[in-house]
Amino acid sequence: MLDVKNVTKKYGKVTACNDLTFHLNPGDMTILLGPNGAGKSTLMKSIIGFLKYDGRIVVGGYKNKSVDAKRILGYVPEIPSLYPNLTVEEHMEFIARAYKLTDYKDRIDMLLKRFELDDKRKKFGDELSKGMQQKLNLCIGLLPDPKVLLLDEPMIGLDPHAIKELKNIIDEMRESGKTLLVSTHIIDSVDMLWDRTLIMQNGNIMANITKAELDEKGESLEDLFFEITEGIDPKDVKEAKEEV
Ligand code: ADP
Repeated sequence: MLDVKNVTKKYGKVTACNDLTFHLNPGDMTILLGPNGAGKSTLMKSIIGFLKYDGRIVVGGYKNKSVDAKRILGYVPEIPSLYPNLTVEEHMEFIARAYKLTDYKDRIDMLLKRFELDDKRKKFGDELSKGMQQKLNLCIGLLPDPKVLLLDEPMIGLDPHAIKELKNIIDEMRESGKTLLVSTHIIDSVDMLWDRTLIMQNGNIMANITKAELDEKGESLEDLFFEITEGIDPKDVKEAKEEV
């Protein structure tokens, strides 16, 4: 469903993405994990077509920058970019029209209710708190219900209710066959169902493994993450614990 081939993105001398190649299957929920500065946002912005890069990215058989790809590809950026002079309701309406959605009213109601923005419909973008802006940012990204959705650090700034709702929505989308790529640097936030993880560090993909493969090895995601990012062998941790 998503093919990333030999993607390299440099900012001056910094190589944010270094010759990345991977494939995501339809219906897979993939966690893109990595410390700050690993290159996760750059990878997402390349997939969505916001950046120039070397390499090839294909979504559902279409080049990522084509109109056909844009119809099936969605993105929730880490930092919301709202219009100060549009209300919550107008933001949603604007996106619905931009995507030429039909019968979208119920979906708008559902999203605004689930993210507790229903009573903020008439508020302008710049009247919303940071957390509310984050929630509206999510509602905007979720409204078109894309086949492939990229969520960049979506839990940041959300209150516990919104985090719970978002995790439920991610589970529901996975259940209905959507392809999801969710980035995070907070390993503790990964407690929803997932199928694959890509672990990035210094612009490289250090691990590309399915949940089933990891389970078979008897390792947790945390073991793997620290093994990669801090060079800690999980066996040493277990042995050290046994010695104590
Ligand atoms: P992550 O999302 O994993 O935190 P980023 O993709 O934001 O990582 O950043 C990867 C690297 O690219 C970092 O070294 C960061 O400083 C650099 N970088 C990101 N955006 C820019 C930019 N617009 N200009 C220059 N360097 C950037």
